[in-house]
Amino acid sequence: MGLLTGKKAVIFGVANERSIAWAIAKKLKEEGAELAFTYLGELMEKRVRPLAESLGAEIIIPCDVTSDTEIESVFNMLDATWGSLDILVHSLAFANKEELKGGFADTSREGFALALDISAYSLVALSRGARPLMQAAGGGSIITMTYYGAEKVIANYNVMGVAKAALECSTMYLADDLGRSNIRVNAISAGPIKTLAAMGISGFRTILDKVEESAPLRRNVTQDDVAGTAAFLASDLSRGVTGETIYVDAGFNIKGM
Ligand code: NAD
Repeated sequence: MGLLTGKKAVIFGVANERSIAWAIAKKLKEEGAELAFTYLGELMEKRVRPLAESLGAEIIIPCDVTSDTEIESVFNMLDATWGSLDILVHSLAFANKEELKGGFADTSREGFALALDISAYSLVALSRGARPLMQAAGGGSIITMTYYGAEKVIANYNVMGVAKAALECSTMYLADDLGRSNIRVNAISAGPIKTLAAMGISGFRTILDKVEESAPLRRNVTQDDVAGTAAFLASDLSRGVTGETIYVDAGFNIKGM
């Protein structure tokens, strides 16, 4: 028996085998969960469908989180097929490449709105969609992915830092709102990991080097490190934990000088 045997999980945010969401999906499956996947558009489907099928997923559907219609169809499909939901993994973010370099004061109105919409508001919209299905399951666990740039200034992270601050705060407000339905909402603050999204951040290599040099564990974290904590948050082992941001960053955030 795995930690998550009998549980149903929907994963948002797999782009390829480097995605943090993919490592989480594999871990949840290993612990016995049944999985559903979403992907962003046709281009991503080519990558995501074979990965999802390799874990035995039957529900593999498109979802651009800027579209209320696509979000609704995901939850309609989960309702029709499963009738309930235990776990939702929100592992997605976006900002225009030009906003992830240079001066923060140059952030455009459109770029700011887009980054906040995709990277933070989407958690609110997906949580609302999941609520009735999680209520049907007697409760649930929602997990999102954040970064230290929400709390401290990290060069070039710019508007994504602001979006992550909104995401972490939304995690707390959602936890309070949905807690009455025994739905828990937590964020994992992961250290830097070389993924598609991370490669869009100017000077990302320097961030990796800095962590390796000064984090207490003197190394960077891997997708699998993050997946272990996600499995804990998805499982009943964390049943008393909600509204938290948990660091999986080799301890980097505790360092002053
Ligand atoms: P990734 O590129 O593999 O995943 C990002 C995902 O966001 C992709 O699957 C992409 O399709 C999805 N996405 C973008 N716009 C979308 C939209 N409009 N609708 C639906 N999906 C959309 O990169 P990743 O590093 O695995 O990122 C996953 C999460 O982890 C993100 O929230 C990221 O900010 C966070 N995170 C990453 C790091 C890191 O260093 N890699 C560190 C801390 C937090």
